[in-house]
Amino acid sequence: MKIVVGMFKHETNTFSPIPTRWEDFGPGGPLAGDAAYKAYRHSGYGLAGLLEQAEAMGAEISIPIAARALPSAPVDHDAFERLCDVLCNAARHCDAMMLDLHGAMVAERFEDGEGELMRRLRQMRPGLPIAAALDSHANLSDLFIENCTVMPGYRTYPHVDMVETGRMAGRLLREVLEGRLEPVTVSRRVPMLANMIRCVSDEEPMSRVIAAAKRAEAGGMPCVTAFSGFPLADTADTCLSIVATAHRDRARAEAVAQEIADLAWSLRDDFMMTLEPLEDAIDRAAAIEDGTVLLADIADNCHSGGTMDSMAVIGAALERGLTGILAGPICDPEAVARLIAAGIGATVSLDIGGRTRIPALKEPLRPLRLTGTVRTISLGRFTVEGPVFTGMPVDLGRCVVLETGRLTLIVSEGRVEALDPLQFRIFGLEPSRFRYVVLKSKTTYRNAFLPLAKAAIDCNGPGVASLDLESFTWRRLRRPIFPFDRSNA
Ligand SMILES: [Zn+2]
Repeated sequence: MKIVVGMFKHETNTFSPIPTRWEDFGPGGPLAGDAAYKAYRHSGYGLAGLLEQAEAMGAEISIPIAARALPSAPVDHDAFERLCDVLCNAARHCDAMMLDLHGAMVAERFEDGEGELMRRLRQMRPGLPIAAALDSHANLSDLFIENCTVMPGYRTYPHVDMVETGRMAGRLLREVLEGRLEPVTVSRRVPMLANMIRCVSDEEPMSRVIAAAKRAEAGGMPCVTAFSGFPLADTADTCLSIVATAHRDRARAEAVAQEIADLAWSLRDDFMMTLEPLEDAIDRAAAIEDGTVLLADIADNCHSGGTMDSMAVIGAALERGLTGILAGPICDPEAVARLIAAGIGATVSLDIGGRTRIPALKEPLRPLRLTGTVRTISLGRFTVEGPVFTGMPVDLGRCVVLETGRLTLIVSEGRVEALDPLQFRIFGLEPSRFRYVVLKSKTTYRNAFLPLAKAAIDCNGPGVASLDLESFTWRRLRRPIFPFDRSNA
């Protein structure tokens, strides 16, 4: 049996100004064949679970493409066409496909990226069994669901079950291939934009919705996933949804999906969150007497499409008079070049951050004027060892550590979400020795950083990954939707 295993993952923040080109699927562009196998077989990605299952079936495996990019603007047309072509060509010569996808990809000319991919694959090979391992932040369309065979999504956020989700997709596909499962899948949209922080899987209300889905699986449903959706995407399909797969029995799939969707809808107020003013959050941090306090900049994390150069949280912490602050990496190649030109030991005054123009934001980001000493200059490369995105190669390009007295700041050419304290340790900086650590992350920092700290405080500044959804202009979103249309959604 020939099985094509591949990855084409992108979570598109339609408000983000950061382009998504072929070369951004990397680092260094998409992988394929042996290079992809080596990079992902023992990684923390869904692809690892898919490969494991394909191997367990004794299949002849080919990996035509393994492409993933950080969340950013819609995938450019050329990159989307090339990636789809590779997968469609591979689909001609196989008995089944296993794909590691996200589910919230938008391409320049296709609002529903994965739906378009699945439509093309289906056109090429009408009966081909296709399994997709998905992110729980997927905004799934009917087009996708109709054309994909089995499609489990993560059950955890922060995502610590990516490999397990790949395994599940592989197992379900095997049941299909062996004639034990005739999947019938239905989706129920829950017309709301859930706040991402309220979708943490082991906290209410999301934990209740996930528990209901798991109960349905324990009761015999082959696959039931609660997709929280990715709200930073202005598309018709953006919302929370329940996707249920039954064996032959459409009525049962519909009943299960509806029941869980009704539960999620009944919890809609709990899925919302009032964002605390930044100054109040910094005041709360200042009131904590000792230990390390994490300040999570929830509006500018690159795993939600953030530009990673908003200086608002750092600026507010300095303004409040806090000392012993560690922060970064702030993506500012221009500042990096200036600091490198000045050299180690030099004292420099310069504007840092706030350079990216973000048309979607009503308030522009602003740079922060800092005076400090260049401590180190180095290349920021490491592999994520933390429990989320384990094995992900990180290339921050050239990095500078700037020391201002109250603040130790990493300025970089590249971007990384706060997934692993290695982002500081590779520069000889131990986060637990600092009083305050400014991280750019909504929730994914928790697994790796909370054990080092006494407390963590969400800080909401400006940024293109903001959860203040009313601050964006929406055009494509299907209405009515909660909370924008409170009364009749
Ligand atoms: Zn996700």
